[in-house]
Amino acid sequence: MTIIGKQFNSRLIADKLDLACSRVAPAIAERIRLCNSDKNVFFGKDMFTNRNGTSATGIGGIWNCGSVFCNQCVARPARKNRPIAEYVFDNLPKHKRLFIVLTMPDDSFSHYSLDTQLEICQYAFRHLYRHSTYFKSVVKGAIKTVEFTINDLRKNPYHVHINLLADAGFISHLKLKQEWTKALEISVARFGIVWKCPTANGLANVFLKQIVSHEVNPNNNHKQINDKKVVFELCKYVCKPQTWQHIPTAHLSDIAENEKVNRFFEVLGSCRKIAKAVRRYAPAVMARKALKLVFTVIEMHKAQGIQYVHTSCLIVLNALFNLANYSHAPPKKRKLSWFWRIKLGITTLTDYKKELDDLFYDAWKYRTKQLRELYPKATFQTLAGAKF
Ligand SMILES: [Zn+2]
Repeated sequence: MTIIGKQFNSRLIADKLDLACSRVAPAIAERIRLCNSDKNVFFGKDMFTNRNGTSATGIGGIWNCGSVFCNQCVARPARKNRPIAEYVFDNLPKHKRLFIVLTMPDDSFSHYSLDTQLEICQYAFRHLYRHSTYFKSVVKGAIKTVEFTINDLRKNPYHVHINLLADAGFISHLKLKQEWTKALEISVARFGIVWKCPTANGLANVFLKQIVSHEVNPNNNHKQINDKKVVFELCKYVCKPQTWQHIPTAHLSDIAENEKVNRFFEVLGSCRKIAKAVRRYAPAVMARKALKLVFTVIEMHKAQGIQYVHTSCLIVLNALFNLANYSHAPPKKRKLSWFWRIKLGITTLTDYKKELDDLFYDAWKYRTKQLRELYPKATFQTLAGAKF
């Protein structure tokens, strides 16, 4: 999609959020509008160099709202998750890799809101992963993502399902179906409803997909998956960005109020051990560790009465600091990105709008400087025409 299309889509969703009876939704709408405003979106001419030596234009935002509804920001979590998913996929033994799709029976949840359906699905999986002895004995670890697609708006519009890249031994298809259905029943019972799976055999559908080489064309989509497609499937976001427009406003505000949207991508068990390697050696993490070390040395020198700090040490510090704040780095502590929600409890919407302006001003000062340092050859211009 072009940048104009993304802006347009995001603004439509912002307008929809304004109508929602919720405290958080209008604030999110403001954030989305700022993120997609002409003053925020920039083009960086000659930012990148292609493999064949030609230069390419980059595009980005000075400040990012990070909302799931924002067309600009929706790709960021996927970009952050991709190296983790790729690393785990490459390092799992081939004979242990298995792609599992756990689905919810479509029709029986039509009277639940999207948020509730997602919660039922999440809770059922948690139950399966923690309490099912069978599941624990066959699946040692996994990467889990929750996704939904829109089917038929007249019936149950949402098709919520979980994709798993599992570190698994031999799995009995029937047994897994039984365990998953049981977990779903327990999850639905939390809402005070006795529920029986409406399918013919009384079991929720589960797909076990064998991961095959991309050179072999998978002949049956339900039973096989191309190895190039696995990471792609895992790193899609919760739905297609355009999908939000088809969802009723009330359901949107439910999602806006809910902070759990961050949990859609999870690395569990043995896969977590593998993934640690990526996180540990990611440049930003290294940089932060190095920063700490340098500061300790300086503090030690101070304590001993040594006033002398080497100039090169300061240069290194600066470089590290930039690296640590580099936007492609893995996420900082997740809670930080939700800090503004706590603030919103104290301030009014009008005050919050003013605060957003300040936020943008600070981001502008910092980010433009950072971009110029990172890409010295590039020339930047926002859609509003400001050059930096
Ligand atoms: Zn955004």
